[in-house]
Amino acid sequence: MLDLTHDDWKARAERLTFRNQAFIAGRFVDAADGDRFDCINPATGEVLTRVASCKAADVDAAVAAARRAFEAGHWSRAAPEARKSVLLRLAELIRANLAELALLDSLDMGKLVTDAATIDAPGSAHFFQWYAEAIDKIYDEVAPTGPGDLALIRRVPLGVVGAVTPWNFPLDMATWKSAAALAAGNSVVLKPAEQSPLSALRLAELAAEAGVPEGVFNVVPGFGETAGQALGLHGDVDCLAFTGSTVVGKLFMQYAGRSNMKPVWPETGGKSPNLIFADCGNLDQAAEMAAFGIFFNQGETCSANSRLYVQREIRDAFVEKMIALAAAHQPGDPLDPASKMGAIVDKAQTDRIMGFIEAGRRTADLVCGGRQVTVGDRGLYVEPTIFDDVAHHDPLAREEIFGPVLSVIPFDTEEEAVAMANDSIYGLAASVWTDDLSRAHRVADALHAGTVSVNTVDALSAQTPFGGMKQSGFGRDLSLHSLDKYTALKTVWIKYRP
Ligand code: NAD
Repeated sequence: MLDLTHDDWKARAERLTFRNQAFIAGRFVDAADGDRFDCINPATGEVLTRVASCKAADVDAAVAAARRAFEAGHWSRAAPEARKSVLLRLAELIRANLAELALLDSLDMGKLVTDAATIDAPGSAHFFQWYAEAIDKIYDEVAPTGPGDLALIRRVPLGVVGAVTPWNFPLDMATWKSAAALAAGNSVVLKPAEQSPLSALRLAELAAEAGVPEGVFNVVPGFGETAGQALGLHGDVDCLAFTGSTVVGKLFMQYAGRSNMKPVWPETGGKSPNLIFADCGNLDQAAEMAAFGIFFNQGETCSANSRLYVQREIRDAFVEKMIALAAAHQPGDPLDPASKMGAIVDKAQTDRIMGFIEAGRRTADLVCGGRQVTVGDRGLYVEPTIFDDVAHHDPLAREEIFGPVLSVIPFDTEEEAVAMANDSIYGLAASVWTDDLSRAHRVADALHAGTVSVNTVDALSAQTPFGGMKQSGFGRDLSLHSLDKYTALKTVWIKYRP
């Protein structure tokens, strides 16, 4: 896979065909009203295909199919071992179709195909495999009642899980929701982001090929205000797992209040701080990881380390290192394995990023980047950009930009750094670089974030929960804890003659 050249990827892209209909009740179908929307490659501006634009009627059909499948029990009441073997087959099918899935995400939203082929698509296979292997090793409980009573505390699937996902990691976000929900025995209706629906549609086809029964996994592509809202308001959806912006996460909580009070699990935005202390013994590594933390995936990462707090005595030297590293992350064709950063997902997001940069030129010190550029005279790209001396109250330090824009903020003391890092509406992730073990524990304890990485950035695995605090939401993906979202506790109390 890693041996593919730029020409190989381009040739594969030429030959690629797209699934562009909704996947409902085991079949690809058009939207009920026949409507479609353009799926555009942001690296070229070309229309890849026109995708079914689902509305309330299509969401109704998908939820009804999911409910029928749940009640039929072929999946929901199957032995965990049976679900496990189907999901293991799906993991293998994802591996067998790795290049295609990687290309779909790269063409759809501009990420580097090499990253999609080495991180996103293998990650998807790994997470399906992980939940498959976990699901037949989880025991329920027996309550400590007296003789004559046997109280079983069981975890049961909820029914129909609605999942609404963003465009920045299309295949992985679809996987994080559906792998756990399906393993637990639920039916799923997934609404992928309108910017990047293609890999989710292919995933649904692979799931059917693996043996996931008809109606258990449905995909309804479409816009947020139509398909997303219809799913959020649906009275027969038992739970809504959402990843996306904080603004839309709040809307889903309102949809639940206005409809059937379904639990909503929002995993939302971030403005993650990265604290570099002067006692960090390996500043080169800290700088390399800080650059990765903000420029990976064009900065379109919820946990991107977009606020860099540097202790004042090392600040000038550290910023010099960051400028040199930024130069090595110049954007290029996402299909070229030599490229270090890809295209921005669409014009609206590019304009938003450039708006922050233009305003920032007046309030902070732009030390590198700052321009929108093209590659081969086309596409939407933004240079890796660093602002130094950013004031704590500046929008550059407070708003989620969701692009390759880093804000450097100097600090003097540990208390000051922690106070500034915590003074944010977000609390998704944070990083700390220090060789002082006590400081590492102290600061990790003090930071309000779902994940604190010490001497690394963005630490993440199938075994550990991922999610936020404050307005980064409270849903948790990954790990066994994710299964809590997709199951209910049920007590079965049996009286017997002791
Ligand atoms: P978004 O909130 O605009 O869209 C997310 C999803 O919600 C999409 O499927 C969209 O169609 C749908 N949607 C939009 N408006 C809607 C509405 N009015 N009603 C119902 N559904 C609606 O987010 P995005 O731009 O796709 O993704 C970027 C955001 O996602 C960033 O804020 C990022 O931090 C966040 N994100 C968070 C995590 C996490 O785990 N915390 C992971 C990845 C991305």
